[in-house]
Amino acid sequence: MLDYDLHCHSTVSDGLLSPTDLVGRAAERGVKVLALTDHDDVAGLSEAAEVAAGRGMQLVKGVEISVTWRTRSLHIVGLNIDPAFPLLVEGLQGIRNGRGARAQLMAESLARSGIGGALEGAYRYADNPSLIGRTHFARFLVESGHSRDVASVFKNYLVKGKPGFVPHQWASLPDAVGWIAGSGGVAVLAHPGRYLVAGKKMGTTTMRELLREFVDLGGRGIEVVSGSHTPEQYAEFARYAKEFDLFASCGSDFHGPGESYRDLGRLPDFPLECRPVWQAWEK
Ligand code: AMP
Ligand code: MN
Ligand code: MN
Ligand code: MN
Repeated sequence: MLDYDLHCHSTVSDGLLSPTDLVGRAAERGVKVLALTDHDDVAGLSEAAEVAAGRGMQLVKGVEISVTWRTRSLHIVGLNIDPAFPLLVEGLQGIRNGRGARAQLMAESLARSGIGGALEGAYRYADNPSLIGRTHFARFLVESGHSRDVASVFKNYLVKGKPGFVPHQWASLPDAVGWIAGSGGVAVLAHPGRYLVAGKKMGTTTMRELLREFVDLGGRGIEVVSGSHTPEQYAEFARYAKEFDLFASCGSDFHGPGESYRDLGRLPDFPLECRPVWQAWEK
């Protein structure tokens, strides 16, 4: 069992727990090294680091950057970043700036399907309004009785072809990797098993093209053990890690009690031959 958990979310993005409560829960569940990786924002890191220090844990400063690659949305996790690096700070600010207008369009799309009040409803769940996103809309759609739970929202709403979906231009892959690497961090491709188009997972040719480009840009890691991967996918992405000489990362992608595939920590060990990503910063 791994006592590292290098991917999770707080109320600074779309998690349900404050950075303080998140770190406390991780400590109780035996996590020794935790990375807080909120979407497109680093505002929770100093609080998390302070609480972690008080509990004898190590807090790795992280972020999960939203990226558009070709026509797809991807997530790049940055680990061991310097959250004050100016290009990173400005880049993340630019992404956040786009979220408000997108939310407006999402609400208009839902209204055309007869669902009113979604904008105000979603913002009620957004502790950090500049990070308004689909999870906050999902919680509103559950609360208002349109869906049974958050998982079913992402089948019937907010995804391509369904009410509430709005195409969006996120950061470019070269920018996201450049900001992370420039800040001294390690860029990691998040949950590669989750990039579905119309229910179909990314093909091996596209995955190889993505990883080639990612590595050439300075990307150094891939999530192998992820809360959204099956054990078969641990093996699959361990093979890609080996093929592209990438570090392997592990993270629950925890968002909140009852809302995530996995709770914090207690992640299964890496498949053999993986090089753990923390070797990149633990000397
Ligand atoms: P956004 O950045 O606004 O596009 O929102 C993306 C977030 O939606 C992800 O980080 C997840 O938290 C959530 N999400 C996406 N797909 C699903 C899904 N199938 N089930 C649950 N949550 C999802
Ligand atoms: Mn999320
Ligand atoms: Mn993600
Ligand atoms: Mn995540």
